[in-house]
Amino acid sequence: MSETKMRYSKQREIIYEVLKNDMSHPSVDSIYMNVKKIIPDISLGTVYRNLNLLANQKKILRLDIGDGVVHFDARITPHYHLICDECGEIKDLFLDESLISVFIDKVQKESDEHIHNIDIVFHGTCQNCLKKKS
Ligand SMILES: [Zn+2]
Ligand SMILES: [Zn+2]
Repeated sequence: MSETKMRYSKQREIIYEVLKNDMSHPSVDSIYMNVKKIIPDISLGTVYRNLNLLANQKKILRLDIGDGVVHFDARITPHYHLICDECGEIKDLFLDESLISVFIDKVQKESDEHIHNIDIVFHGTCQNCLKKKS
């Protein structure tokens, strides 16, 4: 492996590690800030390119939760997301997959199209915001 190639794979490894240590579903900007602490001369474009590459390799998830910002998630086990409408925090929800498949089956019966999967985002108020209110 050439030195440049090694440098690139090392960068990707660090970016992946940084994301793995941040379960808050960070945006590219916030991942970039944390990667910069380890690789000060890295560019935002490089971080973004590597995140997309990792997402294409299915090592991480690219999330579109409708807030106009792309979020990344190193947790790739099946799960769903709950967005706090007060603070914008993204929480992981682990749902019984049978619940979802029953729902998909029902919807499939109503549709002539073929459904492959479902992309649900839940909205609510997180525990922290609930505590602040009480
Ligand atoms: Zn909240
Ligand atoms: Zn998640």
